[in-house]
Amino acid sequence: MHFPIYLDYMATTPVDPRVKEVMDQYLTMDGIFGNPSSSSHQYGWQAKEAVEKARAQVADLINAEPAEILWTSCATEASNLAIKGACCCYQRKGKHIITLATEHKSVLNTCKAMRQHGFEVTILTPEQDGILDLKKLEDALRDDTILVSIMAVNNEIGVIQDIEAIGKLLKPKGIIFHVDAVQAAGKIDIDVRKLPVDFMSFSAHKVYGPKGVGCLFINHHPRIHCETQMHGGGHEFGLRSGTLPVHQIAAMGEAFAIAKAEMVEKNQRITKMRDYLWGELSKIPGIQLNGHPEKRVPHNLNMSFANIRSDNLVKALENLAISTSSACVSAGREPSYVLKALGLPDNLAFSSIRLSIGNYTTQEHIEYAANYIKQAIESLRD
Ligand code: PLP
Repeated sequence: MHFPIYLDYMATTPVDPRVKEVMDQYLTMDGIFGNPSSSSHQYGWQAKEAVEKARAQVADLINAEPAEILWTSCATEASNLAIKGACCCYQRKGKHIITLATEHKSVLNTCKAMRQHGFEVTILTPEQDGILDLKKLEDALRDDTILVSIMAVNNEIGVIQDIEAIGKLLKPKGIIFHVDAVQAAGKIDIDVRKLPVDFMSFSAHKVYGPKGVGCLFINHHPRIHCETQMHGGGHEFGLRSGTLPVHQIAAMGEAFAIAKAEMVEKNQRITKMRDYLWGELSKIPGIQLNGHPEKRVPHNLNMSFANIRSDNLVKALENLAISTSSACVSAGREPSYVLKALGLPDNLAFSSIRLSIGNYTTQEHIEYAANYIKQAIESLRD
């Protein structure tokens, strides 16, 4: 076994070798290296073909039309474009937007940044299990609310929000709905023809694709408008200029195609491993699972341990590559704002770990991790 065992798939995933193989075809002289905007020769045409194939592959995973997919450098950029672009376009209707305290910083800080432009931002708190109470959202809606941004799957605690119900609440009021679907892609079914959403952000590197490429779904039924944030040569329907990174895009397309083909089988495997792991770890006295016990993806277990000195926790678990709030302590930072938003006291928020399971996790890894964590917690309590 290779140590530390990687159990941090929600931070990033390794590139699937099949994806790398595709990516390699779009870089060198003997491959397809052209600029997809070069419309006068075959180097450009072939590159454009690759970009459009990938657009269709990504669209296919979420049942969108290829023209509804806009390439960006990452999901952070996609969410910036959706939120800032929509606020810019629709501000005459109102200047109030709503988001959730447990959103990724790419959404939270983008919403907060709109305050400098005269927007009012309501940040809702989820229930203790991480799920947004729809009544709370309904009560927060105002005549001047123009946009709501709520994520599909949380990156720290793995909970799944009811995107369909939220969208149904917003649609009749004409409020734009942006969804950060970064951690949902390849983990849960997404059908944009059934979900009442206007924008969705995605990233390749959470779905076994490379870092540095993402996309924004922009609904065309009805067509949602968005003000350009990156001006230049008019790429991507004039909404996001910059020469397209064909190798990254082709890789993202392949990664999403694989995700579509293999999601059911992989989820079954991952669920089995998660159930085994939680079955073992739940025996530890004073352990608590953070986030709703059922409304969650199987890829994530976020747990807190009572009466553990957080500074010792990271050291005691050094054979596992996991995400810990205690790492933040050593960096002199605050405890996880997501766990704090669930109402966890500082001591519990600091003594928390996030394990995330992925395609290359084996039962052997999980059995090792279960015993290792049990022993580590026991020794920390001696
Ligand atoms: N949203 C969520 C839920 C994430 O987990 C991440 C990644 O950390 C992002 C957004 C940002 O994605 P990217 O790294 O592509 O900007």
